[in-house]
Amino acid sequence: MLTVEDCGVIRRAHREGSRNVACAYNHAVRIALASPAEHFIFADNDIRPHPANTQPFLDADGPVVGCIYNTACERAFDDPRSIHTGLWRCDRSALEAISPPWFTQRYTPDGLAHAGCVCSGLVKKFHAAGIPTIHAGWVGHQPKRALSAIQIG
Ligand SMILES: [Zn+2]
Repeated sequence: MLTVEDCGVIRRAHREGSRNVACAYNHAVRIALASPAEHFIFADNDIRPHPANTQPFLDADGPVVGCIYNTACERAFDDPRSIHTGLWRCDRSALEAISPPWFTQRYTPDGLAHAGCVCSGLVKKFHAAGIPTIHAGWVGHQPKRALSAIQIG
């Protein structure tokens, strides 16, 4: 069984001067890999763990494990292999098996919206490298309100 004490715990770190989510996640992975830890837990600052619901996340076997939380997409966790990176953990060997950038953001052709979440490219890279992903447990999630379009006039 993995415990929090076994892991390097990385709270999402915004790179100075950048609020881009993919850049912040990539920065967090780079910080993790520069540490001596062999296992990492990555957590956004709006994730709210609860011991009874979150323990399965720590107990699950696998090199890459996500935890279920409420997202804007109600089908985000339908696939048992899906992870989203508000809270996830992985072994160093899994991160070292794939090449950076670990996270990228795709946009719709008109550039007005995200085309999928920032996590999907990471999951595809793990699967292409033969690394399984799973999710287990549940955590609360209290995201900040998203900005809507600015109305002029
Ligand atoms: Zn996601």
